Amino acid sequence: MAKVAPRNEMPRQPAEERIHNFDEVALGYSAERAAAEAERCLQCKKPTCIDGCPVNVRIPEFILCLKQGDMWGAVEALKDLNNLPAICGRVCPQESQCELTCVLGKKFEPVAIGRLERYVADWEMEQGVRTPPRAPSSGRRVAVIGAGPAGLTCAGDLAKMGHEVTLFESLHAPGGVLIYGIPEFRLPKSVVSTEVKYVESLGVELKLNSVIGKLYTLDELLGDGYDAVFMGTGAGLPQWMHIPGENLNGVYSANEFLTRTNLMKAYRFPEYDTPVMIKPRVVVVGAGNVAMDSARSALRLGAEEVHLVYRRSEEQAPARREELENAKEEGVIFHWLTNPVEILGTDNMWVRGMRLQAQELGEPDSSGRPRPVPVPGSEYDMNTDMVVMAIGTRPNPMVFTDQPDLERTRRGTVVAIEESGRTKKPRVWAGGDIVTGAATVISAMGAGKRAAGDIDAFLKDSDQEWWAEPEQE
Ligand code: FAD
Repeated sequence: MAKVAPRNEMPRQPAEERIHNFDEVALGYSAERAAAEAERCLQCKKPTCIDGCPVNVRIPEFILCLKQGDMWGAVEALKDLNNLPAICGRVCPQESQCELTCVLGKKFEPVAIGRLERYVADWEMEQGVRTPPRAPSSGRRVAVIGAGPAGLTCAGDLAKMGHEVTLFESLHAPGGVLIYGIPEFRLPKSVVSTEVKYVESLGVELKLNSVIGKLYTLDELLGDGYDAVFMGTGAGLPQWMHIPGENLNGVYSANEFLTRTNLMKAYRFPEYDTPVMIKPRVVVVGAGNVAMDSARSALRLGAEEVHLVYRRSEEQAPARREELENAKEEGVIFHWLTNPVEILGTDNMWVRGMRLQAQELGEPDSSGRPRPVPVPGSEYDMNTDMVVMAIGTRPNPMVFTDQPDLERTRRGTVVAIEESGRTKKPRVWAGGDIVTGAATVISAMGAGKRAAGDIDAFLKDSDQEWWAEPEQE
């Protein structure tokens, strides 16, 4: 392989500036940088990057158009299989997907596919997003529940196929985690709302403030003229450690802390006066994207010191590397191989500290990662006035009201066939975090897309057998 130019860096706000604002950290490529990065793509005859993408975006094609200055061609190739490219270009873990399988990455750094995707999608937003012509109506109706990445993708694809789609969302704003969880400094709300509007423009009818399980059950939707139902309600129920002191004042779930900050706009105080408590010393528990977002939001909201404790090592932290490095640069203090065993309180029930215990790595657990094992006698106390628990989430059971025939796992996730999204309940499909547990934006989108394809096939031929047990390997 001939020598290849180095990967083009993403310009970013300097750390000392950005910790005082909620503006986007990554500033996006200029036209010159995007062109230089596009030049690095080898245009492989058998591109492996496409297989690395859960929605199989035509990556080499959009990069070739970009290289040739055909920007609308690039938009078309990018959006053919992905309704949310400006979102994916910002938050997808490309390093473990398309960029991991990029041929260039074997000897050099891979093509910055995510940054180019963002460049093309942002360019389209500047011009004004174009809407494809509506497909002729099939006369069939589908209810999609949950306007997160899974639901938006499924709804958009079904509308493109000509079906009449109603998208029910429990909150007052669409986007799911993209709008209530991921902070403005990583994913501006304006980007999410532009891409949601695009999905609506495909013909999707969005119904907000509609909690399925309360307003209607699944059976009521099916009895009300919907031919099929897709569940994409995510995994928004916070998990707790069940240690003493978790009920003290000053302990937040990451979900509540981030929802108040983002969706309810506490970060724009005094324009919005949603209360969010911030104390001088904050401890965040966990090391995924949710933990990084919580720690970095706390810093921006005025905490003097933010500590992050995680029971495993840094190499095992599930957060995107880029976000972990950003958090380090911004001054978050990390305590690896450390686990809380108690949250300590004052007499009037406010957090005053945390008892921590060192861990060491043992034999692999069911996830294949070395198990953290407590080191006896290693406990010590750390002062803190506020704790944010970011240790995982489960599906919210509300949507399952009166649905005994919808099989679920012990973790509360819905049992569904991976390739199609079919659940055990006829005419009900599911995909995204509600099936996998907390995962990624693009994996939820992939599930929404596969389900849309299967729903379309089913609506054209509903005599097929509904459920066949997946074959054991
Ligand atoms: P969700 O995004 O949770 O959407 C579900 C929607 O369903 C919500 O809008 C919810 O209000 C609605 N709903 C729930 N119950 C009902 C009901 N009964 N009736 C009607 N509507 C209902 N992934 C990445 O790839 N990269 C990242 O950088 C990243 N960062 C993250 C940061 C945070 C703080 C969090 C919480 C997650 C992050 N993730 C990230 C994970 C990713 O956002 C999720 O995996 C993804 O959003 C799951 O999509 P979904 O559509 O399955 O569910």
